[in-house]
Amino acid sequence: LLTARGLHKSFGENEVLRGIDLTVHRGEVVVLIGPSGSGKTTVLRSLNGLETPDAGTLTVEGGPKIDFADRVTKSTRFALRDRSAMVFQHHNLFPHLTVLQNVIEGPWRVQGRPKAEAVDAARGLLARVGLSDKENAFPHELSGGQQQRVGIVRALALRPDLLLFDEPTSALDPELVGEVLLVIKELADEGWTMVVVTHELAFAREAADHVLFLDHGVVVEEGPPERLFTAPAHERTRRFLARIM
Ligand code: ATP
Repeated sequence: LLTARGLHKSFGENEVLRGIDLTVHRGEVVVLIGPSGSGKTTVLRSLNGLETPDAGTLTVEGGPKIDFADRVTKSTRFALRDRSAMVFQHHNLFPHLTVLQNVIEGPWRVQGRPKAEAVDAARGLLARVGLSDKENAFPHELSGGQQQRVGIVRALALRPDLLLFDEPTSALDPELVGEVLLVIKELADEGWTMVVVTHELAFAREAADHVLFLDHGVVVEEGPPERLFTAPAHERTRRFLARIM
């Protein structure tokens, strides 16, 4: 579904990505782990056009091969953004809109689908994550876990090919983490293609098809979770896992 090759990105003197390769097959769950500042979020943002790498290429199935060494136009970035939907660390819901209004905003106002259809679809998705009774609530009336589940529904409502999760549970109180991870796990089981940045290694181990360990802007090691977590080949991976597990 997606192939990124040789992604480089610097912020001033700070070289954050130093040649990242990433392949995501349809239906696959790819998890990015690594220390703070290793570049995980920047990789994710590069995949959907929120960040423009300085060099490297990116191809999303059915779209053109984007070469970041060339000038990347706004329309290229927007086309990229249409293919995926991002769930952020903080839910980023519009505070003045109800849950239902938040969910239909993208499909109705941005994608131009008929409102009644967007509402129907939104209600179906809210039911799936157990939030049917909250459609008229405002974000501040929900728990953090419920807000994040609405954030996920809002991403699903865009019907993207690819879901991108940027540390979706790291802003939550510990007792709310499980309900959000469960929803993500169910989506993975349903066959959604996703790239997940997370510090939840138990989740990574259970849900991932493929794990990449990043450090200082490079992929130090990658592989299936069973191998990477039980028999890491690199000292840096071992040290990271020992610290966090
Ligand atoms: P974390 O787990 O803490 O979120 P990360 O692995 O996701 O870390 P990134 O968020 O990708 O790391 O950041 C990598 C580096 O890039 C950091 O040093 C960060 O300060 C820097 N950085 C990220 N975005 C910007 C920006 N817009 N301007 C300047 N520096 C940035």
